Amino acid sequence: MSARIIDGKAIAAELRGKVTMEVHRLRRDRGIVPGLAVVLVGANPASEVYVGSKKKMTVDSGMRSFDYRLADTAGESELLALIQRLNGDPDVNGILVQLPLPAHINSQNVIAAIDPSKDVDGFHPMNAGRLATGLPALVPCTPFGCVILAKTVHASLEGLNAVVIGRSNIVGKPLAQLLSAENATVTIAHSRTRDLPAVCRGADLLFAAIGRAEMVNGDYIKQGATVIDVGINRVPGEGGKSRIVGDVMFADASAIAGAISPVPGGVGPMTIACLLVNTLRAASARAGLPLPAI
Ligand code: NAD
Repeated sequence: MSARIIDGKAIAAELRGKVTMEVHRLRRDRGIVPGLAVVLVGANPASEVYVGSKKKMTVDSGMRSFDYRLADTAGESELLALIQRLNGDPDVNGILVQLPLPAHINSQNVIAAIDPSKDVDGFHPMNAGRLATGLPALVPCTPFGCVILAKTVHASLEGLNAVVIGRSNIVGKPLAQLLSAENATVTIAHSRTRDLPAVCRGADLLFAAIGRAEMVNGDYIKQGATVIDVGINRVPGEGGKSRIVGDVMFADASAIAGAISPVPGGVGPMTIACLLVNTLRAASARAGLPLPAI
């Protein structure tokens, strides 16, 4: 039996369509146009690509996009001064500083400087703490997208065994919090977990956020499980070109799983769509309006 493919591209397009409708409504009824500021420091080719797609999709959804580029020699104080300016700019509802930053800049200082109500990446300790304590928060986009994908397979995650491989602040930890809020029974596995395949075989929902190309093979997967692959790994391809693969060995896993998200075309498109949702939410909350029902 071959697994159902979870079409992240189509699900993300549908979500962006809903955002576009809500943005239109906000402009028409309240005269508010949400604005997202994206800050890029230096010239990292992968970051350039992400920032380019974020900008295009922001504009396509009817929001304003503000682009800030600093040289890779820019100091931390220059970046912090820009963030202060954006914190005070009423046209900017969301601020995203593209990571990774050059090594001479302390990312934690930068994240902590962003006004939490404009922190559309959901990385500020205030938002992380609010998520952990069950308060309304801006939630990191990638885990947010992973939960939406899982819910296209299971209407409710209640009582399901979920295993998250990875415990980073941007994916694994917030994903575990979100799944727990959905009443799943959550296990966080990581590089020190003993007998990882056996732990994973207990999962009805398996999330791979490791950063190791195709590490998760069929041996990690329970028959019929839902597998969400967060990994983005560049590996050598044909003719000297590189190609992108996930953390899951797709062909092997899809023979056993019930449903699986591919790479590319799974979690990746959801991350940007969720960034737009967060910007819309931030704009609504800052205007004292109820959160749009998306
Ligand atoms: P990270 O390096 O910060 O964290 C990786 C985690 O995997 C760690 O917690 C570590 O304990 C665990 N790990 C490492 N080796 C392991 C092993 N051998 N066995 C078990 N666990 C192991 O990475 P991250 O930022 O959380 O990203 C994870 C992956 O997701 C990467 O491939 C990244 O490119 C991808 N990613 C994708 C998106 C997207 O939009 N699709 C967004 C963010 C990250």
